[in-house]
Amino acid sequence: MKRQTIKILICILLISRMAIAAETGPAETVLIENVTVISPHLDQAQPNMDVLIQDGRILDIVKTSAGFHANIRIDGQGKFLIPGLIDSHVHLGHNPLINRTDLKEYQTIHNEYRRQLPRSFLFHGFTSVIDLDYEPARSGWPTGTELSPEIYHCGRGVRVAGGYGPAFVPPEFVHKVFPNLVYEQRHSNNWPERLDPDLYTAGAAVRRVVQSGAICLKTYSESGFGGVFDWSQPSAETLAALSKAAHDEGLVFVVHANSATDWQRAIAADADVIAHGLWHWNADRKDAQLTSEPLSAIEAAVENKAAVQPSLRVVEGESNTLDQGLMQDQRILDVLTPGIMDYLRSDKGQWSLTQLLELYRKHNPQPEIVPSVLISASIQRATDSMVTFHQSGGALLLGTDTPAQDGTGNPPGLNGFLEMTSWAKAGIPLDSIFRSATLDNARAFKLDHEIGSIEPGKQADLLLLNTNPLDTVEAYNDISVVMIDGRPINRGDLSARSLDKNPAQ
Ligand SMILES: [Zn+2]
Repeated sequence: MKRQTIKILICILLISRMAIAAETGPAETVLIENVTVISPHLDQAQPNMDVLIQDGRILDIVKTSAGFHANIRIDGQGKFLIPGLIDSHVHLGHNPLINRTDLKEYQTIHNEYRRQLPRSFLFHGFTSVIDLDYEPARSGWPTGTELSPEIYHCGRGVRVAGGYGPAFVPPEFVHKVFPNLVYEQRHSNNWPERLDPDLYTAGAAVRRVVQSGAICLKTYSESGFGGVFDWSQPSAETLAALSKAAHDEGLVFVVHANSATDWQRAIAADADVIAHGLWHWNADRKDAQLTSEPLSAIEAAVENKAAVQPSLRVVEGESNTLDQGLMQDQRILDVLTPGIMDYLRSDKGQWSLTQLLELYRKHNPQPEIVPSVLISASIQRATDSMVTFHQSGGALLLGTDTPAQDGTGNPPGLNGFLEMTSWAKAGIPLDSIFRSATLDNARAFKLDHEIGSIEPGKQADLLLLNTNPLDTVEAYNDISVVMIDGRPINRGDLSARSLDKNPAQ
């Protein structure tokens, strides 16, 4: 390309960026012109529409908007407008990349990571996220920052003493780290002495969640990652009591479960959402074949209308931490800042890989098999059970569990795109993926009066895409403009590459 042409191109690029950036003040009215509207509540795409936005809400979707005065006009010619995406399973409070023992030394980098975190979700089009174990001080901080997705939550997860989570913490600190416990007589040997069991009933746990402003309640049916650990679990009675109390309060009842047995326990307790796919059952761990055990669990979930977050990235992310594959992937530079990348490339940055290898060395249920083979089998199991569940008529929800573990396997924002890519590769149709990440997620979490589709009155959380997402999953990584609360942001301004370069953040 000639130098002159490059100069002109750069000028055009700068001007088009300024067209939005110049008016990032209080954007009262926005008009997106001549755009193809793709919304999950419509049977088909609607070409050449004008979308009117006022005070952060969608005002109208019309053929012609003559006479509408807009502060900001966006040319949608040749582009596709979709609702902002929803990731219904995140954990905003946990930095999985910096070793806790390095935190003091690398505080600046940690702060930089946190500042970029909400921007990274937006960069990949996630305008709403649901934190399933929400602690205001640790997870709620992006609320009120200028560029943040909408944050919904389940309050603090409800756990039992000696169970998943508390089992890692000395009894005297358990209530500090996991304050929303439920007392059960049979686990009383692990119960923190200073806590009055009468204050830790299922009803009290639900009240705490309600008081925190939650939309859902999350609890855990986890026996120990398919035999790796042996943890206490809430009894069927506790699960049922939580379910009833949550439903009485209008909360969505979410149960963490990833084994066939735990899926069945969640279903028996009338879970609305199962917060993981299925990758543990009684069989040789390197054997991925779906046996009658997972098939029955899948059938029960479909029959009971429990929606499922397959969270393939939980197992795939472990593989990525092991092979460090994402470290060579250019796309990671849009979601992780240069400071954190430098740390991850340093000797100290290898801690999560060392930790994972150590975990397998100590707890490998079949030591004769190397971790990568076990993880590959888990990925195959999770993928095949997702496809079977979907083909049997089950409702999938896009929920990634970002970050599911320490390490580089679940980078914020990008992880959601990778999850969608894996679904597409497994053969989940693109229109199903679209619904799972928008209206189905909104409905499952009772947020569809606000988000999930492009309809008058809803929040103007929208994505302008260069490519049709019903043609290719890559469209979700080809975003031109992210609109949050009616405010349009050029995607490039949300990249980690432009943190601190962007006056609008
Ligand atoms: Zn989770």
